[in-house]
Amino acid sequence: MTGLHDIQARVAQAAEAAGRDAGTVKLIAVSKVQPIERVEAVLDAGHRVFGENRVQEAQGKWPALMDRYDGVELHLIGPLQSNKVRAAMELAHAIHSVDRPKLAGAIARIADETGRCPDLFIQVNTGEEAQKAGVLPADADSFVEECRKLSLPVVGLMCIPPVDEEPSLHFALLAKIAARNGLPGLSMGMSGDFERAIALGATHVRVGSAIFGDRVPAA
Ligand SMILES: *Cc1c(COP(=O)(O)O)cnc(C)c1O
Repeated sequence: MTGLHDIQARVAQAAEAAGRDAGTVKLIAVSKVQPIERVEAVLDAGHRVFGENRVQEAQGKWPALMDRYDGVELHLIGPLQSNKVRAAMELAHAIHSVDRPKLAGAIARIADETGRCPDLFIQVNTGEEAQKAGVLPADADSFVEECRKLSLPVVGLMCIPPVDEEPSLHFALLAKIAARNGLPGLSMGMSGDFERAIALGATHVRVGSAIFGDRVPAA
């Protein structure tokens, strides 16, 4: 038993409450640090869109699962080191954490070389937290522009609000920055706040523990 069906229903309800088609919200099941049986249960229930935040963990888990299950779409949602870009681009359908020129440059070089590139989201540090990844809100427009000059397929923005603040303020800010840059995608909302994110336009919600149960880190 997983929380998948409950969360799918809540996503659909939140979309409907916002006057949106449920099909406009993609539910990313965040499977990081979850026992493989739980991931298989969600795959067996027919879900195919998953999120991981570490490339190495994703590499250890997903190629074998992708051999067994057709149509898996993997989203990388965690901080990305430059030396992991190639592996990330081979594995992922989308990368949600593009947050600096050096990383954008590395992605562009590999995309030129291989002729393919995942969908990209630019991470915005809406709370301007020192320890958090993402471009500052004031730098977002110019970074979007810079990525576009590199011909990168930027589809949207992503944020992780500060834990102790009302997330809706951050979701609204992210939506505003996306709108003025003509970006359709909004990756925002996690287990505790995905309904509020959908109310403010989220196109991708990243839900882990509410689907799989509490994370059980490997010893
Ligand atoms: C772990 C994680 C999530 C999911 O968190 P839950 O609270 O378990 O839903 C979403 N986004 C990012 C970037 C994460 O690292």
